[in-house]
Amino acid sequence: MLARRTILLAMLALSPLVAVCAYAGPTSGINRAYMDTTCSPCADLYRYANGRFMDTADIPPAYSSIGIWTEMGDRNQAVLKSVLDRAAANADAEEDPTLAKLGHFYRSLTDSVRMDREGITPLAAELRFIDGLGSAADLGRAFQRYASLGIRFSGALVPFGFAAEVDPKNSATVIAQVSQGGLGLPDRDYYFRTDDKSAAQRDAYRAANAKLLAWSGMPETDARRAADAAFQLETALAESSLSRVQMRDPAALYHPMTVRELGALAPTLDWPAFFEGAGVHALAASDARLDVSMPGFVRGLNAQLTATPIETWRVYMKAALLRRYGPWLGHDAFQIAFDLQRVSSGQAEPQPLWKRATQACDISMGQALGKAFVAQAFPASSRERALEMVANFRAVFAERIDSRPWMSAATKQQAKAKLEAILQKIGYPDHWRDYSGLVVDPKGAAVANLMAAQRFEAKRQMAKIGRPTDRTEWVMTPPTVNAYYEPLTNEICFPAGILQPPRFDPAADDAANYGAIGETIGHELSHGFDDEGRQYDGAGNLRDWWTPEDAKEFKARADRVVAQYDAYVGVDTLHVNGRLTLGENLGDLGGLVLAYHAWQRSLKGKPSPVIDGFTAEQRFFIAHAQSWRTKMRAEAMRQRVLSNPHAPPVARTNGPASNMEEFRRAFGCKSGDPMVRDGDRRIEIW
Ligand SMILES: [Zn+2]
Repeated sequence: MLARRTILLAMLALSPLVAVCAYAGPTSGINRAYMDTTCSPCADLYRYANGRFMDTADIPPAYSSIGIWTEMGDRNQAVLKSVLDRAAANADAEEDPTLAKLGHFYRSLTDSVRMDREGITPLAAELRFIDGLGSAADLGRAFQRYASLGIRFSGALVPFGFAAEVDPKNSATVIAQVSQGGLGLPDRDYYFRTDDKSAAQRDAYRAANAKLLAWSGMPETDARRAADAAFQLETALAESSLSRVQMRDPAALYHPMTVRELGALAPTLDWPAFFEGAGVHALAASDARLDVSMPGFVRGLNAQLTATPIETWRVYMKAALLRRYGPWLGHDAFQIAFDLQRVSSGQAEPQPLWKRATQACDISMGQALGKAFVAQAFPASSRERALEMVANFRAVFAERIDSRPWMSAATKQQAKAKLEAILQKIGYPDHWRDYSGLVVDPKGAAVANLMAAQRFEAKRQMAKIGRPTDRTEWVMTPPTVNAYYEPLTNEICFPAGILQPPRFDPAADDAANYGAIGETIGHELSHGFDDEGRQYDGAGNLRDWWTPEDAKEFKARADRVVAQYDAYVGVDTLHVNGRLTLGENLGDLGGLVLAYHAWQRSLKGKPSPVIDGFTAEQRFFIAHAQSWRTKMRAEAMRQRVLSNPHAPPVARTNGPASNMEEFRRAFGCKSGDPMVRDGDRRIEIW
């Protein structure tokens, strides 16, 4: 639909007749072709703005959804592909060492002929290493080895989490964090849900592990039995794990202790040796301190280290290794991994190899790739306009804090100090990451180069432990179609990848831009004050700065948000989980309110014209709704509702708008309309 519209505009521009009466101002920024105007916005804003798209769009076989995110993601990926194709073609003669590395890396990841020919060979040494593990002491060696491949990427390779984190009670410093982990399914609840679909997903997971083990050379009947035993081990680890909702309480996840105390929780593992082997020499001393987020899990892990036979641990690690690297080991292993993915995504076909390789390049060398992306797709004018918008948000948020009737002067002062301290990152980092320490072998297999990149990143992460926090670091890569707020550094970040049309359209009128990307800016700022974010202060420390009365007032409002979202249905009879999605919903609610008022502020009293037959206020809300335009497969929606902290697109659209008097006024909605929450039902926080 978008391609057709682009062609149409090009033709109009060439026609002298049309040029005479062409509207010279900015575009409306909304797409009428997506709308179902037979549906009243007062009944369902999402349907009104996106109904025709929802009825007519086909989800391509290789996609689990289609809409604004895939449109922007695909366009960004096309830019990355052009960068990578060029880098790969010129890699041998390239003078810029980083671009040469990127070219060689991409080349190895797209060499499907070699992957098919070599099959398991690139992983043979690792499998032999695992075969050689004979005791619990050997297991410790294996955990060290795989921690140095980066636990962030490891899935279940190491049965716990280990990372560098900003110390929640001393945010100026980075400490080590040991947490729960080691599960191959998305979270602990997947091991225990009793419905048919969850049972089928567990069966598919066990079957995929068995097939991968058989593919690696294990006799088939042994593989089946071994995969079942490994699954029992995972289930036991899941039993000791916290749920996603439980993990939304930061105070419950902070347990500073010494390495010696950690050793008392889990004596089977030689922790100083593990830390030393993982490259964190500071933790080799038994009185060194770290944060053990989930002590209960560590106790449960110790029980499994003692009780589970070493053969099962070997299978557990082999299966994890095969799941992680299988997609790069030729067609057969890839197909097994994809069949498993299909169960949760609903995709009929896999993404082409170049796309998967591009994603892997973004994960591994994202800032090198991002630098080229920014040069091609993010003009300085976009950054300036985004900065201007953010300035309006900051000013409006401070005013809104001041005008809250439910908040005392003391808490307001603290809130404004926190707002003032929020660091903003727009587009791309000031300093690009140095990849000179990364060795990419031009003749290496995909798996070897992936491991090299993962080791490089793990080493970079581990080197942070015990050092001052670097607030300039970017957690997302510049081409990413996403944004974040990080409470521990009190920062918002909007990568160049999300500052793109249609979410952020330099050609469009501000009403649409504030309704779309503006909602995102407001969302991230609001995260600093959601039910989790509000527990941190402006410096990023976990410190309660609220008076008890104000905290009570906030919680009462948050509870009503939980109830509002609990009522939305995600798919079939599966409801949205209001507790799981609370932080995001608070972000959405605050985000849209702030966006509306920041936009008003940007107008400086000037009237905004009618464009495309819609008032500016209507365009603001239609653009908001179109910024969530997504058609999703039922499998993917189910996965999202069960494990994603973000509510489905319909709820993200209608949830915040229905609480706004400005929405009701924009469309002349009446009390009693489905999209009008008025009187006692209306929730206003910011
Ligand atoms: Zn969010």
